[in-house]
Amino acid sequence: MIVVMEQNATEEQIQHMTERVQSLGLKAHVIQGTERTVIAAVGDERVTKASSLESGPGVAEVMPILAPYKVASKELKSEPTRIKVLDYQAGAGVVGVMAGPCSVENEEQIVSSAKAVKKAGATALRGGAFKPRTSPYSFQGMKEEGLKLLALAREETGLAVVTEVMTSEEVDLVAKYADVLQIGARNMQNYRLLEAVGKSDRAVLLKRGASATVDEFLLAAEYVLNEGNPNVMLCERGIRTFEGHTRFTLPLATVPYLHKKTHLPVIIDPSHGTGHAYMVPDMSVAAVAAGADGLIIEVHPTPETAASDGYQTLSFDQFESTMARCQKVAAACDKEVCTMPQ
Ligand code: PEP
Ligand code: MN
Repeated sequence: MIVVMEQNATEEQIQHMTERVQSLGLKAHVIQGTERTVIAAVGDERVTKASSLESGPGVAEVMPILAPYKVASKELKSEPTRIKVLDYQAGAGVVGVMAGPCSVENEEQIVSSAKAVKKAGATALRGGAFKPRTSPYSFQGMKEEGLKLLALAREETGLAVVTEVMTSEEVDLVAKYADVLQIGARNMQNYRLLEAVGKSDRAVLLKRGASATVDEFLLAAEYVLNEGNPNVMLCERGIRTFEGHTRFTLPLATVPYLHKKTHLPVIIDPSHGTGHAYMVPDMSVAAVAAGADGLIIEVHPTPETAASDGYQTLSFDQFESTMARCQKVAAACDKEVCTMPQ
């Protein structure tokens, strides 16, 4: 249910209705829109007494939320959400770019990557410290040492740090160093992990599972939102199909579909989405043209020697020219690529 408050509803009335929703055993999510405040009453759909909320003080109307995902739905919040983390911003007309190596390898590699991607126009640094690798014999990441190096790179550049957390037990540890918690494609349906990051005060970058439908993806986001964390970004990183010319198939139609269904920002990952460095610049530009609110791109000082995903990783020069193209396309689409002081 959505409890739509009257335009001139007082703080007291909003508080009263929030408590009424909670007294029915439902979770109350208060969303302050530009025009009016709505309270999402979500939980067990068998609670029928919710319609009695209509007679509460300051209530304009009570409506059902038809989408299976509630807090993520545009029915609840029609204006797009902009996520802000340090100088990084994404959504509602601003395109935010995260870039950096697939894995943190050493201080020199991560600090030089941070400086280069910042110079080219990124506002967040990516780098995996806990790596979900298909083979147990592949490099598994530097773990806490890697997190410390990411925090050092943030100190040197001011870039927001985005890095993956793989288990609910490690959320506090990763959140100690990171600004954005990345949930990897392999974990999109790890519901206990989604709930754990939902309880964190860090923004979340949720990647789509390689074989998940977009509606399952939205329901995964709902797990995070329902725990009270409103700062969720949806990342399309490609899905598994019969195609062999790319590592995954990167469906850009996801962008307009998600914009129709949700207020959350949509980020495109052209690196994992294609698996080939030569495709990344064109697909980055295409993603911005399709309306993406952000990009996450793998960049390394020497892609050839990268500990993971080198084949889909851009060099500093390639990233710089990709950013210049993206900025032009964003401007042509009446958007801007988010910037920060150099
Ligand atoms: C990554 O970002 O390096 C990664 C492992 O991504 P995904 O979860 O999309 O495979
Ligand atoms: Mn990678």
